[in-house]
Amino acid sequence: MSVPSDLHLHVSTNGCNSRGECPWQDGTAKNYYDANLHEIVVAPDQSLKTWAHEACHAHQQTTVIAETGLDVSPVLQPGSNTRLPDLHEWLTTREAQDYAAAVVTDGPPPWGTHGIALLEDFAEACGRFLVPRTYVSGLEMEVSFPSTPARDAFFAARDFK
Ligand SMILES: [Zn+2]
Repeated sequence: MSVPSDLHLHVSTNGCNSRGECPWQDGTAKNYYDANLHEIVVAPDQSLKTWAHEACHAHQQTTVIAETGLDVSPVLQPGSNTRLPDLHEWLTTREAQDYAAAVVTDGPPPWGTHGIALLEDFAEACGRFLVPRTYVSGLEMEVSFPSTPARDAFFAARDFK
């Protein structure tokens, strides 16, 4: 899976990135991908699957750059004065179109989505493909259940590991 070569992780208890910018400004821990800094921002004690989900958003950024030659554009986050790229350009890529076509056979994802549905559907399915089992608070959890065969086949066919 392609990701920015300087992709890195920042653990934050207040939702702020390593520059001290806080896109949501409510002081609570958040998990997100900061496309400006190529930084995965996660709250403490998150699962490996959560890191993988955010790394899949980083992959979406490299897809935009590879297919369009342009980087993702900053968008003002609700309730914030920080401009954080929301990766919506990914929806115009061939990868997004192929993914949308592939998941029709699986139907809606069995997990909840938020924000831009296909963006999050992709990141969550990608994260679960990469990390099908995870530990949360010391308990092993099966995160890929219920299975989504078309989604898994999509990532397997593209050698995402
Ligand atoms: Zn996400």
